[in-house]
Amino acid sequence: MVLFAPARPKTVTLTIDGAAVTAEEGTTIWAAARQAGIDIPVLCHDERYDPVGVCRMCVVDIGQRAYAAACVRPCEDGLNVKTATPDVVRCRATLAEMLLADQPARERDPKQTTTGDNELLALADRFGLPGAGGLPAGPGRGEDLSNPVIAVNHDACILCDRCVRACDDIQGNDVIGRSGKGYATRIAFDLNDPMGASSCVTCGECVAACPTGALTNKPIHDVPIRPRGELDAVDSVCPYCGVGCALTYHVDRQRGAIAFAEGRDQPGSKGRLCVKGRYGWDYAASPQRLTVPLIRRDGAYPKGPLSADVRGEMSGAGSDARGEKGRNAPQGRSGGGRRGDQGGKRGGRKPGGLVDYDEVLPHFREATWDEALDLVAARLSGIYAAGGPGAIAGFGSAKCSNEEAYLFQKLIRTGFHTNNVDHCTRLCHASSVAALFEGIGSGAVSTTYGDVANADVAIVTGSNPTANHPVASSFFKQARRNGTTIIYVDPRADTMSDHADIFCQLKPGTDVAFYNAVMHEVIRLGLTDAEFIERRTTNFAALAQTVQDYPPQRAAQITGVDADLIRRVARAWGEAGAGVIFWGMGISQHTTGTDNARCLIAMCAITGNVGRPGSGLHPLRGQNNVQGASDMGLIPMFYPDYQKADDAGVRARFEQAWGTVELDPQRGLTVTEIIGSALKGGVRGMYMMGENPFLSDPNINKVRKALSALDFLVVQDIFLTETAEFADVILPASSYLEKDGTYTNTDRRVQLGRKVLDPPGQARVDWEVVQDVANRIGLGWSYSSAREIFDEIVSVTRNYAGLRYDNLGSTGKLYPNPDPARSDGTVVMFGERFNTPDGLAHLVPAEWLPARELPSADYPLVLNTGRLLQHWHTGSMTRRSYALDAISPRPQVYLNPADAAELGLADGEMARVSSRRGTIVLQTRVSRAEARGNCFIPFHFREAAANLLTIDEIDPVGKIPEFKFCAVRVEAAGPPKQDVLWRGSSRGCPASRPGRASSPGPA
Ligand code: SF4
Ligand code: SF4
Repeated sequence: MVLFAPARPKTVTLTIDGAAVTAEEGTTIWAAARQAGIDIPVLCHDERYDPVGVCRMCVVDIGQRAYAAACVRPCEDGLNVKTATPDVVRCRATLAEMLLADQPARERDPKQTTTGDNELLALADRFGLPGAGGLPAGPGRGEDLSNPVIAVNHDACILCDRCVRACDDIQGNDVIGRSGKGYATRIAFDLNDPMGASSCVTCGECVAACPTGALTNKPIHDVPIRPRGELDAVDSVCPYCGVGCALTYHVDRQRGAIAFAEGRDQPGSKGRLCVKGRYGWDYAASPQRLTVPLIRRDGAYPKGPLSADVRGEMSGAGSDARGEKGRNAPQGRSGGGRRGDQGGKRGGRKPGGLVDYDEVLPHFREATWDEALDLVAARLSGIYAAGGPGAIAGFGSAKCSNEEAYLFQKLIRTGFHTNNVDHCTRLCHASSVAALFEGIGSGAVSTTYGDVANADVAIVTGSNPTANHPVASSFFKQARRNGTTIIYVDPRADTMSDHADIFCQLKPGTDVAFYNAVMHEVIRLGLTDAEFIERRTTNFAALAQTVQDYPPQRAAQITGVDADLIRRVARAWGEAGAGVIFWGMGISQHTTGTDNARCLIAMCAITGNVGRPGSGLHPLRGQNNVQGASDMGLIPMFYPDYQKADDAGVRARFEQAWGTVELDPQRGLTVTEIIGSALKGGVRGMYMMGENPFLSDPNINKVRKALSALDFLVVQDIFLTETAEFADVILPASSYLEKDGTYTNTDRRVQLGRKVLDPPGQARVDWEVVQDVANRIGLGWSYSSAREIFDEIVSVTRNYAGLRYDNLGSTGKLYPNPDPARSDGTVVMFGERFNTPDGLAHLVPAEWLPARELPSADYPLVLNTGRLLQHWHTGSMTRRSYALDAISPRPQVYLNPADAAELGLADGEMARVSSRRGTIVLQTRVSRAEARGNCFIPFHFREAAANLLTIDEIDPVGKIPEFKFCAVRVEAAGPPKQDVLWRGSSRGCPASRPGRASSPGPA
């Protein structure tokens, strides 16, 4: 019996152009007309923003004294609307003519408008008007070319405010406003700063929104771009972060080049992009691409690093690995062997700190694919024959497709009978995955980041989403505007803290103490979900006993967060109807990373915040396909779909599915263990597909020795990476833009990436290369396409069941998905049971432990490492992108103003940063985001490699290194370098927002 029928929305019926139209109450005339297939022109309106009705282009006749603006006027019962009477059309044409008369004279398809979608000029065509008339002589309102990739022509601006709303309402960046009066009124960035010096993050949302070409993309390439109509549009997915934004590349086929990228509608990105997705695609056209197989010359043995940067000999803005200088330098340099476009001055030492091809390439000679692949197969087979499975290891890549990850682990497992296969998930969320498997039986997110819209409270912790997951952060910011309380917990007061209702700036490495104290309070206040605990969890009593020892006063002493603020967090979390936790590597990259994640799982479980809309656990995945690569079994303890490698039944199933015998019965070694094994002579031969451990792994001195010690290393990559300097064979691979494949984002959304460009020279698609190696060691593979490989993946992975290339559609599908033909997939998981054998969440209490290397008199500061918005991982792609390198060209150490002053360092001055493992020299950036006693260095820069400083201690369960905490000393190292164009120290340092609660930060 239905007691309460859901309230039906009220409707109104009106007439539009003679047709009866029924619409929900509150619908605007413009929207109702659109639903009825009637187009009303607009300039200031976009359905993604709140309407403002300022341009009046959408006026319609509603039988009243004045015409009404359809974009803001709600429908009314009985209204008779005429959208295109001769007089209405004449009004619009006159309006367009007036706007055009005030436009600067320019070409009809100005080359700067690379998106080519000038809506005002389109209206001129529609009304048969001659186009832009040109401003009368005079100063005009000026232009602003200070941003590397966006041009502002204030004279073309019609003050429609679309850019303002795009920046505020969609991206939540709040950069654009207005300045001036009367005719001098114009859009303004921050306090009327030049755009390039403002807090603008170059997301390009305002450019996409601008209807007149006042905001345009500058051409990325030197050669002018052809008009939009002459470009091919290829739907694909952004290749950078785990958000996996849907986009369309517009390709100039004649030049074989991308002209521009624009966001595409998809539930997880809604047409948005960040600076990397919108402007960071030109790396694929870098003249430094590898285009031919290379074999190390005889004279370049014994092996070792080939460049000064990688040897650690750089001074100035570089590294100085004391005690390591030149130790592994090759004894004899053969020189020569330079190949047309691959050597010579093509590379040169770039100001951006790229590899110097003149320095490195002479140590290699060109080879045919057959020669290189024969050598790879023979050497790896020989090492395997002599040393057994333990002598071989492979690193795959989270940047490659699911198909490539799947084939790579299959090659290592079936060709060399070892589970020594891993990838960079070990360096980002391995501890989160370990805790999630232990706690709820699944390493994937329990809900999407878009589900934050349904949350009363969202905790964002150990994450800098505005830099690392920018489009996901725009969903967080939007949710807050719509009423979700955002609690931000992080050692750094980065931009997200400005968008938080409660900000807790805790001391690094104190997460367990903080969350134990929150749980202490939740339990003390009786805010747990007793029914959920009873029905769906185990071990609550032990958890309660542990957190009993963490009253807020004690936690305040450990964490530096005020006890009352901890209590406030506990109350907000405990009272939330729906709460969700998003976390990043500030949680996972600690020796206590698994304990940190255990606390977050317990936080959700004791309050019943899993399995309902707006609730759950979401470790924000770093790379574009780190979720997929893990799903594919590119990890040493699991076959595809997280089936245990050391389970005899699972092994038997895969032996049957893969037609092989003797799969390795033991779990394999992880990334960090493989490096350690190579140092001790265990692992002797390695296949590296798309990984660059030299820069990404902790304690580079150790990695340098390990890579030098290998008997054989094959590197398959698109650039001559730092790791490739240790290779015996280098295979030129395809970039993301040069192949088809599927990629799985942080939400579990499986999407199609499509080929946009041809690979350069002899570079080849990665899965084909892996297959060629497999066949040379006798595996007899015959895959003919990525589609065929995906079908095999689906046959061995329960979670991907039902997915096909043909049903992924243009926006992909979430897994699990029982009905891909009709459904987007499962947003909220674990509504009834968890994936553990008993279906229950297993609560695991954790005691707070201090970090392994605490500050001392010699090394008094705590170093935190991480990413910048503009760069990606080891920088091999982003530092070869014009826009990204132009905005963020050099390494910097971020220091609290008081610490900087105490050290005698000013913005831009050079600093020497030392840990017990080495020293790097880089520029100072005074930053209010850092608490006193802490500093931050991004790890993208080879000339000042942060991982020369980091410690290689690992979490005992997840085996993830402690990238977020080691002790360092910072000293002055001289005045700013000559080439430095300092852009202002306040960028990215959020000012306090009135009304925001925050801790004073650890002293
Ligand atoms: S590029 Fe993005 S951040 Fe910058 S002004 Fe435009 S919308 Fe705002
Ligand atoms: S948020 Fe991530 S996926 Fe989206 S455009 Fe930026 S880097 Fe690409």
